[in-house]
Formats: sequence, structure tokens, C-alpha cells
Amino acid sequence: MPQRLAQWLAEAYLPGSPIGGLRDTDLDRMGALLNGWEMTATGSEGYAKAEVTLGGVDTNALSSRTMEAKSVPGLYFIGEAVDVTGWLGGYNFQWAWSSGWVAGEVA
Ligand SMILES: Cc1cc2nc3c(=O)[nH]c(=O)nc-3n(C[C@H](O)[C@H](O)[C@H](O)COP(=O)(O)OP(=O)(O)OC[C@H]3O[C@@H](n4cnc5c(N)ncnc54)[C@H](O)[C@@H]3O)c2cc1C
Repeated sequence: MPQRLAQWLAEAYLPGSPIGGLRDTDLDRMGALLNGWEMTATGSEGYAKAEVTLGGVDTNALSSRTMEAKSVPGLYFIGEAVDVTGWLGGYNFQWAWSSGWVAGEVA
């Protein structure tokens, strides 16, 4: 939980005592508040931050060794253009670079 949110919740909903001194009812109340928390999205970061996670050229249509289209020799697809979904955390870059590297070597 972000520190500023924790600070705000503690000040708004808990008596000003050390956590060890809180009553069970205080903790239950805070637990119910957090578990029942409802958030409403008020907007997005816009197109510049948009990420596509699905879709693209079917991997079955490509050679997994060269990224060359099976039905069109000399045509290669790599990275984001291929229907490969990576978790957040660098996997998409890795996929883009690795698939680009093999296709570039072969082409
Ligand atoms: C906001 C955001 C944050 C991200 N953060 C991460 C992250 O932290 N880690 C991670 O691993 N991945 C991240 N990704 C995903 C990652 O950026 C992409 O998976 C990766 O850049 C794909 O590389 P690519 O070369 O396949 O495609 P792209 O990087 O999209 O490159 C395609 C290029 O082709 C150009 N192009 C398009 N059409 C044409 C045309 N007709 N003629 C000529 N050029 C054209 C485009 O201008 C672009 O430069 C993020 C994506 C976004 C949008």
C-alpha cells in the first residue's frame, strides 16, 4: 500500500495509538473498510500509454526458428506484430529483441 494512502487511512479511521494498542473492533473496522474498498476509474493515461496485449500474426503461421511466414518465403514477423503475450516486466522487450535478432540473422 502506498505510504501516503496508509497514512491518510490511519489518520482518518484509526485512533492515534500504536498499532499494538488498537482494539479488535478498530482492526475489524479497518479490515472491513479495506476489503470493501471500491474504486471507480476516472480516466486513462491516453493513447501514448496504451498497451496492446493480445492479437497479431498467428504463431502457427510462422517458423519458430526464423520467424519466417510458412506460406510466404522471405516474409518475417517479429515482436509486437506476432500474437505473443508477455507479462509486464521486460518480457515484451526480450521477445521483440530475440525474435528480431533471429529474423535479422536469417534474412
Ligand atoms: C507504455 C508502454 C510501456 C511498455 N513498457 C514495457 C516494459 O516495461 N517492458 C517491456 O518488456 N515491454 C514494455 N512495453 C512493450 C514494448 O514496448 C513492446 O513490446 C516492444 O517495443 C515491441 O517492439 P516492436 O519492435 O515489435 O514494436 P514497436 O516498438 O512498436 O516498433 C514498431 C515501429 O514501427 C514503426 N511503424 C509502424 N508503422 C509503420 C509503417 N507503416 N512504416 C514504417 N514504420 C512503421 C513504429 O513507428 C515503430 O517505431 C511497453 C509498451 C508500452 C506502449
